[in-house]
Amino acid sequence: MSSQSKIELSPQLLRRLHRIHRQLADLRSQVKRAPIQIKASQARVDQAEAKVEDAKERLKQAKKTADQKQLQLKEREDRIVTLERKLNEAASNVEFTTFQEQIAADRKANEVLSDEVFEVLEQIDEINAQLEGVTKDLESEKSDHEKRVSEIKARQEVAEGDLKRAEAELESSETEIPAVVRSDYDRVVGAKGEDALAPVDEDSCGCCCQTLTTQYVEQLRMSKLTRCPSCHAFLYLPEDRRVK
Ligand SMILES: [Zn+2]
Repeated sequence: MSSQSKIELSPQLLRRLHRIHRQLADLRSQVKRAPIQIKASQARVDQAEAKVEDAKERLKQAKKTADQKQLQLKEREDRIVTLERKLNEAASNVEFTTFQEQIAADRKANEVLSDEVFEVLEQIDEINAQLEGVTKDLESEKSDHEKRVSEIKARQEVAEGDLKRAEAELESSETEIPAVVRSDYDRVVGAKGEDALAPVDEDSCGCCCQTLTTQYVEQLRMSKLTRCPSCHAFLYLPEDRRVK
């Protein structure tokens, strides 16, 4: 610390560097977030699409069931017609009674089956209504997705432009860092990013809250290079604190 304390380092430069580093961190996270936001938006479309597919599948199954039951109904009706003909041609009372019983049994079975067909047809109506609803939802989800994606991409483009400008500003500002400090600065920035620099908040480090002795604050008032003894951040006095 004692050897470093002789090095002059302007608080204006440190403030500017810290502002740019914070801006960079924010812009980088914005740029990184964009594809995640697009993915989340696409997931909503996929979910709506799955609901449509599910309704279509249920409709297909219900129609299949209705077809099977209606076919069964028709077959049994045909059989009743045949039995009625046989009934008229019955050669004995025993035969007559047998045909009569078979006809009665088939009619009873078909009554139950008709109710079932009616139920399935009602289900089909219901599923059709659901399908209409989820199809509309899918359409609006798709158009919302398009809007969201274009908004995200527009924001991303702005963020990327700002990022390039901030990177250029950083590069030019970093040339003002005294050469003797540069490698330390690069190392801490590489490890800690925006937390490589910290304002002094009251009498503590604005990054790790370590309380600083008056000697540190005095050094900062004289614009001398001062590192936090705990987190090693490059300290600076905020603009509203008197310097030298
Ligand atoms: Zn600290």
